[in-house]
Amino acid sequence: MPYLHEWSPALRESLPHLRLGSGPTPVRRLGALESGSPEIWLKDESGFGEGGWGGNKVRKLEWLLPDAKRRRRKTILTFGGLGTNWGLATALYGRDQDLHTALGLIDQPRDKHVETQLERLEASGATLHFTRTKNRTIALAPWLIARHSSGLRPPYILPSGGSSPLGSLGYVETAFEIVAQVRSGELPEPGHVVVPTGSGGTAAGLALGFGLAGIPTRVTGVIVTEHLKLDDHAIRRLAGKSASLLRRRGAEFPEPPLDLEMTSDWMGETYGAPTPESERAIERARAEGLELDPVYTGKAMAALLDKSEAGEFTAGPVLFLNTNGPR
Ligand SMILES: *Cc1c(COP(=O)(O)O)cnc(C)c1O
Repeated sequence: MPYLHEWSPALRESLPHLRLGSGPTPVRRLGALESGSPEIWLKDESGFGEGGWGGNKVRKLEWLLPDAKRRRRKTILTFGGLGTNWGLATALYGRDQDLHTALGLIDQPRDKHVETQLERLEASGATLHFTRTKNRTIALAPWLIARHSSGLRPPYILPSGGSSPLGSLGYVETAFEIVAQVRSGELPEPGHVVVPTGSGGTAAGLALGFGLAGIPTRVTGVIVTEHLKLDDHAIRRLAGKSASLLRRRGAEFPEPPLDLEMTSDWMGETYGAPTPESERAIERARAEGLELDPVYTGKAMAALLDKSEAGEFTAGPVLFLNTNGPR
């Protein structure tokens, strides 16, 4: 049973859940990355999903796909860059649930990884619309919605990254999973959790989850894109909307504290552009048997290492979330 349903039995009927991966995902200490205190720990989300394929987007789909089914939608319409992990995860996991996926794709610099992702997207059966820019995507939205309606039923529309208030519950669930791992002694109680942030659902969900569980863990979101507003205010707002959703579905709880800070200091020039700091971090992590990517997790690890060396983690052990799926 999901932790959320255990926490509030009122949610069992009102909040459908579809198991797509098996938790708890593994945790281990990354001793070689430490420079004195604090301890650095890893929670590895990369194997979450059927056949070990997925990462953090699958956590969101566990709540989104059954909602789309319950609303009897036939098609999911969503958005991303040409190399979107989110779009690919939605297409593949949606297909298993008889849900078709339509994607509005915005340009991003094409490298080998992006080309490979595009091939996978084409093979996934999703309908691809190359809308090029954010403004053109917005202008074309009415046409896309009409094109992907079946009869009077509109498509199930999701924001890029799956970071709707419902999708973000995937990381409330993960925060509860982390708390269970702390209680069973697998992991010390983290003072800090560091995650890459591309659309905000991971950071917002975790902060809300720790708040609801009453654990004083601070979430640091390392922003990797300039395309969305992802500052403290935006992430707090998203977490607040997820909390309202839980209340509307029957959960009762006092106003949770949200301990989070967002930083864009490690983004570099633009989304997807490598930085020397992230290249160094990727190399150091590799020596610990941890494979990171240059777009998301490398930049988050660079922030973690720099902040750790600067003595900024004063609240105890730091937990790094490897959100990356295999590539
Ligand atoms: C999408 C993605 C993220 C960002 O998570 P958000 O919830 O969108 O902020 C981080 N890492 C990887 C590998 C991703 O694909």
